Amino acid sequence: MTIACPDCGQPMIYEPATKMYVCKRCGLYVTYNQLVKLIDEKKLKESNDMKKEYLKWWLGDKK
Ligand SMILES: [Zn+2]
Repeated sequence: MTIACPDCGQPMIYEPATKMYVCKRCGLYVTYNQLVKLIDEKKLKESNDMKKEYLKWWLGDKK
């Protein structure tokens, strides 16, 4: 199972030797727990951004 990097979306590479996940593109280097946390935070931020966009549309001129 590959996990996409929360920063750049590239697949993270698991390093069994260090039990760390590394992104070869942006250099993110985290443990599984940190990675899960980052992904959760990103999802939360994205859903908040979506709500904001909707609110902006709702409050603005509905063309
Ligand atoms: Zn990355």
